[in-house]
Amino acid sequence: MRAPSRSSWFALLATLALARVTMGCGTAPVPPAEVAPAEADPAALEARRLAIRDQVKALIGDLTAEGRYDCCVEAPCNLCAMRAGGCRCGEGLRRGEPVCEECAMMWRRGNGAEPGVEAGTVRSYLEAEREMEARAKASVEPKVQAKVPAKGGAAEAPGCACAEHAPK
Ligand SMILES: [Zn+2]
Ligand SMILES: [Zn+2]
Repeated sequence: MRAPSRSSWFALLATLALARVTMGCGTAPVPPAEVAPAEADPAALEARRLAIRDQVKALIGDLTAEGRYDCCVEAPCNLCAMRAGGCRCGEGLRRGEPVCEECAMMWRRGNGAEPGVEAGTVRSYLEAEREMEARAKASVEPKVQAKVPAKGGAAEAPGCACAEHAPK
């Protein structure tokens, strides 16, 4: 027997979902999709965290095998896996571009892994963005340098030129 195609499964599910909604009480609002009850048990929360961590690690392994994870630190970042489903921090860094926040932090911690790159030069996208904003702001703000006193002469008030104080 031919297995039903994916789209017909979706159609079936949609029909069932619709049937459930229409069979329910007409006045009651449709409840949102069921959410898992909050687990207050710390052990259960920790078990979930570890399971997710392992899944992310496995995902990174598969993405790496597919050539979609070119990271720049010793243990590949999780951030790009979750945010983008792939990492280009390595190739970007080799071009002198910023890296993701997690990679930048790892470089700062001494865990960079890109030959020939000086850790102190590695910046995150966030840092790069802030630098750009600061530069843009500085170029717009009026110059205030005229008011900055010259070095050394700041403490000395200029000599009074009024008649009373004028040198005799
Ligand atoms: Zn990286
Ligand atoms: Zn990354």
